[in-house]
Amino acid sequence: MFNKILIANRGEIALRIIRTCKEMGIKTVAVYSTTDRDSLHVRFADEAVCIGPPSSTESYLNIPRIMAAVEITNADALHPGYGFLSENANFAEVCQEYGIKFIGPTANQIRKMGDKVTAKETMIKAGVPVVPGSDGLLKDVTKGKKLAKEIGYPVILKATAGGGGRGMRIVWKDEEFEDAWNSARQEAKAAFANDGIYMEKYIVEPRHIEFQIAGDQYGNVCHLSERDCSIQRRHQKLLEEAPSPFMTDELREKMGEAAIKAGKSINYEGVGTVEFLVDKFRNFYFMEMNTRIQVEHPVTEEVIDHDLIKEQIKIAAGVPISGKNYFPYMHAIECRINAEDPKYNFRPSPGLITTLHTPKGHGVRVDTHAYAGYRVPSNYDSMIAKVIVKARTRDEAITKMERALDEFIIEGIKTTIPFHKKLMKNEKFRSGDFNTGFLNDFDFSDLD
Ligand code: ADP
Repeated sequence: MFNKILIANRGEIALRIIRTCKEMGIKTVAVYSTTDRDSLHVRFADEAVCIGPPSSTESYLNIPRIMAAVEITNADALHPGYGFLSENANFAEVCQEYGIKFIGPTANQIRKMGDKVTAKETMIKAGVPVVPGSDGLLKDVTKGKKLAKEIGYPVILKATAGGGGRGMRIVWKDEEFEDAWNSARQEAKAAFANDGIYMEKYIVEPRHIEFQIAGDQYGNVCHLSERDCSIQRRHQKLLEEAPSPFMTDELREKMGEAAIKAGKSINYEGVGTVEFLVDKFRNFYFMEMNTRIQVEHPVTEEVIDHDLIKEQIKIAAGVPISGKNYFPYMHAIECRINAEDPKYNFRPSPGLITTLHTPKGHGVRVDTHAYAGYRVPSNYDSMIAKVIVKARTRDEAITKMERALDEFIIEGIKTTIPFHKKLMKNEKFRSGDFNTGFLNDFDFSDLD
């Protein structure tokens, strides 16, 4: 087992990783930017190294500085968390050259899944159903328009390097194609420095259902069931739950098998997530694979009672997995609490948290790095907490979440708590009858 793990991340996930390391008797090293000096991950790690100024490119994304921290602390493994360098194949390669174990898949496996076009090609070869669309990248507008007619509108243009819902445009008819093409390319270029665009049939009113998988160094791959992430605003997840209210035993078996196939096709090593779109007839299509731990991993942890970070560390250390699949026996819901004002288009609301009281009690878990007196910086992701509840049934989980949100007091900044409170009361949400377009006609104007 590893002796010392450096965590190349910040916020709640850095803290989350430190917790598991402590339980496993592994020493930890935090890295931090000057803005994060007073962060909890810095306080709770055994050692901490400042790696630069607030800007991510000069700190959490700066490979030479992180490697310098590895060298001075003598860490023998590195956990990348999510975001930042977690899906950067070059970084995984640099770690290997330095002789430090990257806790995650190999650089090659990251490469195969990181580029969405290549990933789709790999899935087609492996026999996993994918959304119908272009054969690789689109060359120009004319070819794009021609293909859109063949596939049939609506279509969606997507950036091959995409993430976080950026670089995507839905096109409903021919006349809109050119504008959508130009803006998708511009957005992709600005966000990812890569304006490669591909096309997919736009699946109308789908569910976003993803499978957690795990693979070891010996070719065993298993699945740990699904999460439903259909509650999204502008293609960004706000709430996740497990199991999916839309799932049947038969569908779980088929999708689980496809997810395992996806993992096996690249000899996947580590924990990962295979994302699918599911239409109302329960046809499912591979969308992408995330080769890292996900924000929403706690819902899976709660329904199968398993520590996924521990699983990641064990796999990286060469421990084989049992190979059996895991099935949910509880219901869990996670609400993402962001420092944003949902009443005004979710505009960012950084600043000082003057009062913080987190919900507690049976079946309630709060993963957060925030505390009273903590200043939410404007430099990074706006998520400041995740509330996760678990109960025997979905109804009970919703009631518990309502109770937990009522107890959650954050003063000094605006958060997404009022939105989640309203969502819990929504009849459609309560009945489980929703899809990724659910929030398109949600009324945010009366939130406090
Ligand atoms: P990102 O990597 O930016 O998160 P994804 O490919 O995971 O992008 O897609 C994010 C969301 O966009 C999905 O959860 C879904 O709501 C929507 N989406 C993506 N592709 C399609 C499609 N072909 N049809 C319908 N919705 C889609």
